[in-house]
Formats: sequence, structure tokens, C-alpha cells
Amino acid sequence: MTTIPLAETGARLTIDLGAIAANYRLLAARAQGAECAAVVKADAYGLGLERVAAALWLAGARSFFTAHLFEAKRLREALPEARVYALSGLAPGAAGRFTNAGVRPVLGSLEEVREWLEAGTAAARVGAALHVDTGINRLGVSPSEAVELATESRFDPALLISHMACADTPGHPKNESQISVFYRVAQSFPETPKSLANSAATLALPGARFDMVRPGIALYGGEAVAGTDNPMRQVVRLEARVVQVRQCPPGETVGYGATCTLTRPSRIAIVSLGYADGYLRLAGDGEASPAEAAVNGRRVPLAGRVSMDLIAIDVTELGESAVKRGDMVELIGDTICLDEVAARASTIGYEVLTRLGERFERVYIEPGAGQ
Ligand SMILES: *Cc1c(COP(=O)(O)O)cnc(C)c1O
Repeated sequence: MTTIPLAETGARLTIDLGAIAANYRLLAARAQGAECAAVVKADAYGLGLERVAAALWLAGARSFFTAHLFEAKRLREALPEARVYALSGLAPGAAGRFTNAGVRPVLGSLEEVREWLEAGTAAARVGAALHVDTGINRLGVSPSEAVELATESRFDPALLISHMACADTPGHPKNESQISVFYRVAQSFPETPKSLANSAATLALPGARFDMVRPGIALYGGEAVAGTDNPMRQVVRLEARVVQVRQCPPGETVGYGATCTLTRPSRIAIVSLGYADGYLRLAGDGEASPAEAAVNGRRVPLAGRVSMDLIAIDVTELGESAVKRGDMVELIGDTICLDEVAARASTIGYEVLTRLGERFERVYIEPGAGQ
């Protein structure tokens, strides 16, 4: 993918592949002997599937999870030797596409298992995972269906998985109940590798490790466990260019809806990034106090609503000449972390990452660069 030069767009997204590799190694250490797979669905949480997967492979990852088959096929092209799973399962009639691509579906219902078995030896050669629902009620066969399937001689899953609903809250009673249901089902599959933990469980629930952990968000620097210090390295830096700086008298309003009234003579910097770039509109106009940006490490508040291509920030507190046309302003980075932006927009880091748009100059920092 060729990037857009900054001179032809408004913002730059820098993705630190070295930080992703370091995060992978930290999670692999926390897995304590269990395999550490990598979840790269949704274009590696918006950061670019091929580049991210290549860095993860170099860091040691060998098993990868996408959501859909088309993502898995892209990954296969990039990493021909990787084990690739598609979490969203088997679409009706798609078994041949999976076997041709050498992608393992994560089978989530008895119908899917039946269709997969009908694909015969081709399917058996590629292998599939079996998803058992232990309480999130999203995808997966029931525990009793799974135990029943264990007696089906034609079916030998390559992996048994389940997914946790509340691992981001380590004290939640649902965690112990899901771990114990999974443990019980696992007894029926003594030879099959088992996987339950997402990022949060990898970090905070040792009882959920089994044979393989499946972190996603923590690889990308997001906060996985609520209310604790995030041990992961920040991966994403989002900066946008100042288009102009305006001097506004008190009583003036800024932006659509005139929601922000200035109470003093103000300097307002107009910055070239908006909700079409995935900078959520609620960050400027939600129930939380407005998001902040950073100019050379100094925090400044947004002023008024986020528009499609532009935001306004109030730089009155900074020195007269501290901000000028062409300067870059940090929206996500060392000063303003991903999860802070998410909280201001009443959402989670996952949504902020996966919504980052296409209109950026994209810069990848290779592992080992500058260190
Ligand atoms: C997305 C997903 C993961 C990764 O979750 P994180 O919270 O991002 O670590 C793991 N397993 C399944 C089934 C998923 O859908």
C-alpha cells in the first residue's frame, strides 16, 4: 500500500512495529509456556494486517486469528507458513474456499461442524478449531454439544477455544464460571490443544492460560485490564497539521451548533483531522469533558464540535508564537494515550483503533529502528 504524502493530506499516523514486537514478547512471557498466538482481525485492529503480521512473525508468533476468510487469505499470502484461523466461522457453502486457502475455520455451531465434515479429507487435512460457548452467548456450540462431538470419530479439531465476556474486570464472577466450564469440556478433548484467554485474561487471569493465549488489543498498546497500570508500550501516534490560527474575541462561538462560547480573548488553532478520519465526534461533544490534544507535550483542550475534516483546539494558554500554520499537533501519542481519547468519546481503545481512517500519511517504524 502506498502512503499519502503529508503535503497532500492533513494527518500522519505512525505505527511502531518495534513496540508491537515488544508487546508480543511481554505477552508471550506472561503466557508462561503456553503458545502466544496473535489476533489480527479487522486489519490488525486498523494498523495494517501485512506489516503488523510480519513484525509479529519475526517476534515469534506462529498462530494468527482473523475474523473473516478474506482477511485470512491476505495473511496467508503474507505469511505462507503461519497457522491461520478465521474466528467468524464457516459461511454456508464456503468450506471449499477454506480448504483451498488452507485456512482453519473456528466452527461455532453444529451446522458448521456438519458442513465441515461434509468437505471430507480436504477439510481434515486443513483442520479446524471448535468454539464452545462458556457463557458469552455469542459464538460456539454448547458445552453439552461439545462433549457429544468429542465422541464423533470423524471430527478431530486442531484446537478447542472459548471466549471470555468479562476478563477486563478480573474480579468478575463470570470469569471463574467460564474457566470452570471450559475446564470441564476440555476433559472430553484430552489430546486437543485448548485456548481461552484474550489480552486481559493473559495479563490478569493465570487460570485461563491453557495451551494457547490469544491477545489482540494489548499487542497494539491498548488497555486490556480496567483500572490497572497498562504495562504495554504505546504503538500508535496520531498527529495532524495546524491549518491556521485564529484570534477570537470573547463572546464568539466555535464550530457547528455554536456549542462552545469563548469567555476571553482566545487563540484557536484549526487542525486538519476530523470524524471522517476516525477521530470520534463524541470526543468534542459527548458527556465526558472534551478531549485534549498536545502541542510539544503541552495539553490543550478541543474547542467545540469535531467536524468531518477539522477540529479546533484552544491554544490561548500557550505562548503567542507557540503554534503556527504547518505545526503538528498530537491527538494520540506519548502525552495523550489511546485509552484517554477513547474515554472522552465514551468508548474503548478498540473502537478508536479500528476506526482510524485511510486519509493519513502512514509511517511504520521497523523493529530495532532508532534503538
Ligand atoms: C477479538 C478476540 C480476541 C482478542 O481479544 P482482545 O481483547 O483484543 O485481546 C480473542 N478471541 C476472540 C474469540 C476474539 O473475538
